[in-house]
Amino acid sequence: MKILTFDIEEWFHILDNDSTKTEMEWSNYEYRIHDNMERIFKILEKSGVSASFFVMGWMAEKFPEIIREIVDKGYEIGSHTHLHQLVYEQSPKEFKLDVERSTKTLEDISGQKVRFFRAPGFSITEQNLWAFEILHELGIEIDCSVFPAGRAHGGLKSYGTAEPSILRYNGIQLKELPINTHSILGKQFIYSGGGYFRLLPYSLIKYWSENDPYIMSYIHPRDLDPGQPMIKGLSLPRKFKSYVGIKKAEMKLTNWLSDFEFVDIKTADQIIDWKLVKIVNL
Ligand SMILES: [Zn+2]
Repeated sequence: MKILTFDIEEWFHILDNDSTKTEMEWSNYEYRIHDNMERIFKILEKSGVSASFFVMGWMAEKFPEIIREIVDKGYEIGSHTHLHQLVYEQSPKEFKLDVERSTKTLEDISGQKVRFFRAPGFSITEQNLWAFEILHELGIEIDCSVFPAGRAHGGLKSYGTAEPSILRYNGIQLKELPINTHSILGKQFIYSGGGYFRLLPYSLIKYWSENDPYIMSYIHPRDLDPGQPMIKGLSLPRKFKSYVGIKKAEMKLTNWLSDFEFVDIKTADQIIDWKLVKIVNL
């Protein structure tokens, strides 16, 4: 099963960087989301594929027309928090208020219940597992925040499985659709979204995709936008990670969607026999 998801944020929502950290900094940058959403909708229409969208509440508040368009086209919306902060930098109270604000905003505009969640930068780690309890409390049924490998920000390496699973923590449970990994000689590689998807050649992505039964993708509008300005002052590695491969990403995504069958989260949820999946006790 291959699942198609997008994380809907602006091109300047770059984590762990001072000049793009809060609303105050964001006001310095132009908005590019309308053109970028049109690009995504066109790709989906051309490919005849449905997708799920994790949207920042802040984006919904600013551009409610985008939420309406996503819903009108029949796609489902999940939360990507309100203000796109790293969860491990928030207190439980801050995280709860932020997610709650996003689900309220998204539900008011979309008229749909928010059932899915993905943390910015996959920033639920071994140190802030309490976030899962809060998600459960706020009515989230399916979490997609687990990145079961090491990474610059976040990641939950100890999760131990890169497949649909039931996550149990402190008496609660959530359905978990983690990011998939491709294993080579015991080392885990990620290729289904962000900089990894942009960096790797399509021939390799295709080859790995043929061999991996489960894929969870995570594409951002900015991954597909070659016209976006360069954020000033990024370190060289961040600059590389943020801008590598953007020109070819749209073509790669189009090829990926035509070479393989992708479904949205709602369909995946119906197909998966949750009674048979692995249970992960954290
Ligand atoms: Zn994000």
